[in-house]
Amino acid sequence: DKTDMKILLLENVNQSGKELLLGQNYQVESLKTSLPEDQLIERIRDVHVIGIRSKTKLSERVLREAKNLIVVGCFCIGTNQVDLDYAAKHGIAVFNSPFANSRSVAELVIAEIITLARQLGDRSNELHKGTWNKVSSKCWEIRGKTLGIIGYGHIGSQLSVLAEAMGMSVIYYDVINLMAMGTARQVPTLEALLNNADFVTCHVPELPETKNLISTAQFGQMKDGSYLINASRGSVIDIPALINASRSGKLAGAALDVYPAEPGGNGDYFTNSLNPWAEDLRSLSNIILTPHIGGSTEEAQSAIGVEVANALVRYINSGVTLGSVNLPEITLRSLTLEEKDHARVIFVHRNVPGVLKRVNDILGNHNVAYLMADISSVNPGEIKEIFDTLESLSSRILTRVLY
Ligand code: NAD
Repeated sequence: DKTDMKILLLENVNQSGKELLLGQNYQVESLKTSLPEDQLIERIRDVHVIGIRSKTKLSERVLREAKNLIVVGCFCIGTNQVDLDYAAKHGIAVFNSPFANSRSVAELVIAEIITLARQLGDRSNELHKGTWNKVSSKCWEIRGKTLGIIGYGHIGSQLSVLAEAMGMSVIYYDVINLMAMGTARQVPTLEALLNNADFVTCHVPELPETKNLISTAQFGQMKDGSYLINASRGSVIDIPALINASRSGKLAGAALDVYPAEPGGNGDYFTNSLNPWAEDLRSLSNIILTPHIGGSTEEAQSAIGVEVANALVRYINSGVTLGSVNLPEITLRSLTLEEKDHARVIFVHRNVPGVLKRVNDILGNHNVAYLMADISSVNPGEIKEIFDTLESLSSRILTRVLY
């Protein structure tokens, strides 16, 4: 019964998420802080669900004690704080909220485009120090300028709509073909984007292929006097190359929200020896430096609360793993209370020979079943054999193998 479901929320999870869970009549307890490991171990033994943010470490040592736990909700973006592999092997699903702050990032970038075009950062700093410096030279409207978006995912496509509404024309480059929003246009290569954009903004994930995606050669392909924005990941821009491009006048300005080495908490940053280029970066004109605040808004926090709580409810009530970071994603329509004669079996299992036969023997002959499995390390010969063997089963209705 779902009213028996015990949920422990730590680290002051957003009210929006708490309310959704309370609305399901689960037993919800909420604490403002994270817990030291020993206390966490005591508390986790008893609960079916735990909601955390980035400070609670769910290590193997902690999870080993979590005998009743079925699901973890990370009310944040990252999931490094959880031993995902251990959790998967013990049937504990883990959910997070990777996209709830997309709009906040897109709005920040809009602000940065105008701030760079008008040199607002420098004018404001000057007047803070008492200097009245009224200039119009090299200050621009953004209307009619071209925005080049690298990575047209959740953030890039949202930004595309906002930028067009302000009269910019938008081009984008992505490794996959994606439908354009409004009158935006996909270009075939990164070079084509860099050649044509007045403002270039990066919205790609951190991957080996995106490390130093913008380096000396790419700055060379940009228009003279163009601008660069990075609110994606710090590894994407080669910072020494950016410093050179800025000094040479190639770049008229840049905004950085993310850095190759970021600290765990607030405080002194640029004294960090991991950032040998810090002084050079700070000395540039028309450069906006912000401390990874792209997604830091009240709305994003509340959206994260709703997204993760909804994922938990779906998993608890219907077994749907859509959005899980450590189990295969499977969705079936929600179970409704009217379906009294209906049961749904959720069985996370090790993939060892014979397991499906045992399951089938147990479930018996209940209508049509649909099996989908991802298999790795197979060669074409094995694929053919798997297909032929499945096809030869007398219980077969349809077999498709996608590869
Ligand atoms: P997303 O996964 O929705 O979109 C990323 C897009 O990049 C995809 O369309 C993908 O096909 C494309 N892509 C991947 N490799 C590419 C390559 N080599 N060249 C061109 N395109 C490529 O991601 P998102 O939610 O839009 O987030 C984008 C970035 O923003 C991520 O790095 C994310 O971590 C970061 N982010 C930063 C903040 C912040 O606070 N500054 C907040 C949220 C997200």
